[in-house]
Amino acid sequence: MKNIYNLTLEEMENYFLSIGSKKFHAKQLFEWLYIKRIKSLDEASNISKDLNQVIKKDFEFNPLKIVEVQEDVDVKKYLFELHDGEHIEAVLMFHDFGNSVCVSSQVGCNMGCKFCESGRRKKVRNLETYEMVLQILMIEEELGKRISHVVVMGIGEPFDNYDNVMNFFTIINSPFGLAIGSRHLTVSTCGVVPKIKEFAEFPLQVNLAVSLHAPNNEIRNKIMPINKVYPLEKLIPALKEYYKKTNRRLTFEYILLEGINDSESNALELSKLVKGMNCYINLIPYNETNNIEFKRTNTIKIMKFYDILKRNNITVTIRREFGRNISAACGQLRSKKEEL
Ligand code: SAH
Repeated sequence: MKNIYNLTLEEMENYFLSIGSKKFHAKQLFEWLYIKRIKSLDEASNISKDLNQVIKKDFEFNPLKIVEVQEDVDVKKYLFELHDGEHIEAVLMFHDFGNSVCVSSQVGCNMGCKFCESGRRKKVRNLETYEMVLQILMIEEELGKRISHVVVMGIGEPFDNYDNVMNFFTIINSPFGLAIGSRHLTVSTCGVVPKIKEFAEFPLQVNLAVSLHAPNNEIRNKIMPINKVYPLEKLIPALKEYYKKTNRRLTFEYILLEGINDSESNALELSKLVKGMNCYINLIPYNETNNIEFKRTNTIKIMKFYDILKRNNITVTIRREFGRNISAACGQLRSKKEEL
């Protein structure tokens, strides 16, 4: 049986039509689910008892289970249990501009990036749309506050679960749903080129971030297997095309890994690679994990890398770190739980 939080407004309208009922019930039900936040259909007082019975027969309302919450000053991390006993994580960050949540899109991940904890476990399955929607709803409920920004940067490769992730955006962006503005939504990919092309046609103005992490194919091949399928000479033109179609500025994520991609000549090469693109580079201090041999670049060297990009007129920021004390790197909480 489908979960009710799986449906976009349009899908729900089609559902009501398909059972010989009226389209406007979809907006009513959306309001009950996303604005009034009912826990049972019986609370939806403007939907008739008979219709309620039909909906109940067709859909389940089950929430996810929050099994662990870790907290630090500026961050909260949630471990969820899914209906099949699998675990996923979401991270809530408190910024001065609002509260943002980083959601997971898959159980496990097949991309195999060498530095990433999540990829240590192969993909078990995609998350359903409702499992992403409920990460947001349940965090808002636990917190008692509104989430203003959402990034799909948790466990999983969102462009390997494209349709469900796009439906998730459609639901949380809907004025009858959570009404989170599309410019406050971001999806991050390791570089699945055909989906970048498809995403350029997606009607909502969701931001795109790309995990670049290397200035050339040689280094990228070593740390990100996806680069062998979609090397830079495919990725970069696809991103330029994306920009031409959408006019939306891109973000490049670049984790600095000691001795791998953090030299001065790497910084110069990176400047050349992105020159002329409307983008900014987000330098990410590596979050070391117990299981993996990569080391974090020290702060002085990070600043040097930053300066070189600046001097070459590249817009660059250094990512603020949240929750270093509480296993905040993606996949760390889950892998502790399951002792992988
Ligand atoms: N699969 C998507 C989204 C999930 S990863 C992607 O690759 O973009 C989200 C970001 O966290 C990516 O840029 C990823 O490379 C980065 N990341 C993974 N492990 C990390 C770690 N230990 N420290 C810092 N960033 C990490």
